[in-house]
Amino acid sequence: MPKALIAGNWKMNGLAADIAEARSLAEALAANGASCRVALCPPATLIAKMAWSLKGSPVAVGGQDCHSGLSGAHTGDISAEMLADAGASLVIVGHSERRADHGESDAVVCAKAQAAFRAGLEPIICVGETLDQRKAGRALDVVVGQVEGSVPLEAVDHGFALAYEPVWAIGTGLTPTLAEIAEVHAAIRATLRDRLGAAGAAAPILYGGSVKPANAAEILATAEVGGALVGGASLKAADFLQIVRAV
Ligand code: PEP
Repeated sequence: MPKALIAGNWKMNGLAADIAEARSLAEALAANGASCRVALCPPATLIAKMAWSLKGSPVAVGGQDCHSGLSGAHTGDISAEMLADAGASLVIVGHSERRADHGESDAVVCAKAQAAFRAGLEPIICVGETLDQRKAGRALDVVVGQVEGSVPLEAVDHGFALAYEPVWAIGTGLTPTLAEIAEVHAAIRATLRDRLGAAGAAAPILYGGSVKPANAAEILATAEVGGALVGGASLKAADFLQIVRAV
């Protein structure tokens, strides 16, 4: 089994002074080691500064989104190549906040994942159902459909991670039961295996949605959970470190 991945998503939080949190995380991990891969995805304004500050440390740096194109007239957008040039090695694509706030379809997310591969970045491809979809008994159908539409077939030749993030669990303090997490992760694994063979069998499937120090160990011990995508609890090094230590 590949090592688990614990990735922090700072979202639209963080100024230059907050790089100190990333440094303190990196120093703690350098001192005692980590049994998993660890990454932080700060806002775009901090990627270069954080990557410089964490160079040679056990903490990788990722972007939170990228454009699918190489360059051009796309005001405000950032290409995967620009993220790589700034020192990122991963990028989150298809986060539910991007899907909701920017109307990103599975096809758009798939093109962004392809851009990540083109630039040599590892995409963390996010999927997840809304509360209405879960209540209607459609969670598995929705998530499987998103995986089929968002994970490019080129993923057979590239490293990537999938993140299952129920929309209703993000930032709410609510989490699915462990049985519900296991059920969705099993469906995602079967879909990835069907589409990508050995690469689909090996890719880490992260859980995301209100992961915190108190629930990390049981979630990370659930079948087919290969790590976590962590929002709020990644902003403070002490909390995030406890989640990393729960692997
Ligand atoms: C996220 O935004 O990816 C996330 C999981 O957020 P939180 O941990 O705050 O629910």
